[in-house]
Amino acid sequence: MAGAKFTPAQGLEEQLARMLAPAVRRIAVQVEVEAKRLAPPTKRWVTVGDNRVRPTHVAAQGQVVPGNLRFKINSMDWDMKHRGLGEHTYMLQPKDESSRAVANIKNCRCTTHKDPKGIARHITTGQPVIAGKKVTVTVSVEADQVVEAEVGTVYPGNLRAEGTFFMSRAAAIVAARR
Ligand SMILES: [Zn+2]
Repeated sequence: MAGAKFTPAQGLEEQLARMLAPAVRRIAVQVEVEAKRLAPPTKRWVTVGDNRVRPTHVAAQGQVVPGNLRFKINSMDWDMKHRGLGEHTYMLQPKDESSRAVANIKNCRCTTHKDPKGIARHITTGQPVIAGKKVTVTVSVEADQVVEAEVGTVYPGNLRAEGTFFMSRAAAIVAARR
C-alpha cells in the first residue's frame, strides 16, 4: 500500500500567516471602533477655586476617573467619627450621599467635567505579530483604572461599581458579525 505524506514547503505556514495578517488586522480595527463607541467617559472633579473650598476638595481638584467609578476623597474627621468612614470617602460626584459622608458633602459647590473620549482616545490597534502559523493583533487601552472601568470594583463599605465591559462587548459584537 502506498502512502502519501504531505509535507508543507518550508515556511509555507508562515507565508499563509503573512497573507492573512491584513485581514486579521482589519477585524481588530473593527473591535477598536466598537470599543471606542462603548468606552465610558471620564469625569474630572472641579472646585470653584476660591478660598472657601474645603481642604479635602482642594486635594481632589483635577482628579480624573472613569465614569462608572468613584472619586477618592480624603475623609473629614466628623464623617470618620460619626459615619464610620475610613481615611477616604468614595464619591460618584460631588454631594454624593451614597458615599455616606455628611460633613464632606455639606454646602459643597464642586462640579464634574465630563470627557466623552477620556478613555476612547487611548484605545489603539497594534501591528500584526506573526509567530509560525499564528497571527496576533492586539487591541489595547492604557489609561488610569481602565481595568476597573472594564470589570468594575468594590470600594470599602461594600460600595460597588459595575463594570462597563466595553472591551469584551466590542469583541463580542465583531465576532457576531462573522
Ligand atoms: Zn466641594
